[in-house]
Amino acid sequence: MINLVFATGNSGKLREASEILGQEFKLVTPAEVGISEEIPETGKTLKANSLQKAQYLFDKCGSDCFADDTGLEVDSLGGAPGVYTARYAGEDKDFNKNMDKVLQELAIKECEASFARAMGLSVRKVSRKARFKSVITLIFKGEKHFFEGTLEGTIARKKSGNGGFGYDPIFLSEDYPGMTLADITEEQKNAISHRGKALRAMSAWFSE
Ligand code: IMP
Repeated sequence: MINLVFATGNSGKLREASEILGQEFKLVTPAEVGISEEIPETGKTLKANSLQKAQYLFDKCGSDCFADDTGLEVDSLGGAPGVYTARYAGEDKDFNKNMDKVLQELAIKECEASFARAMGLSVRKVSRKARFKSVITLIFKGEKHFFEGTLEGTIARKKSGNGGFGYDPIFLSEDYPGMTLADITEEQKNAISHRGKALRAMSAWFSE
């Protein structure tokens, strides 16, 4: 049995990680080891944030642990929201406001492109290509290891679906054409998701 502290207070994420990693792993929350404060996340990259969170846990409790950090990158928005994914539309981390901001910014880009075309300029179609990226930092026996997972897709024109969380209702995956991540089941999402891939990479490292 591999015991790990997972830097999350989100019960959904804990359940998802436990399901993906399987019975060989026992995951414990920071609260269960007496860490109840919010773990700082002030890095400029996903890797820096996941390292900061894992290091914070390790410094406080000395146990084997891991942390993940995820970002959505939209090509036409220069890779935004990126490291600011959780609080793109404000500190209240409101999923609906975050999605609305992405949809509105893409609509503005399309409007600008149409305007330029109307002015006789030759302008390329605005790409809605995007990807989720997850980076995991594992600190095991005092050594750091990094694992990554990516999910390619496009940003939908409107929200769809009741499942998932975060930006799922506006993210169309390549694996399920025409469906957002909120339209598919949790099992289907876990099989293709950025976090699923990063977690499976970590699990494969333990099996080696
Ligand atoms: P975190 O690093 O896992 O806390 O993720 C940062 C933010 O990315 C979250 O607050 C969500 O808005 C978004 N996010 C992370 N994972 C997913 C996902 O699987 N689907 C949709 N949004 C996600």
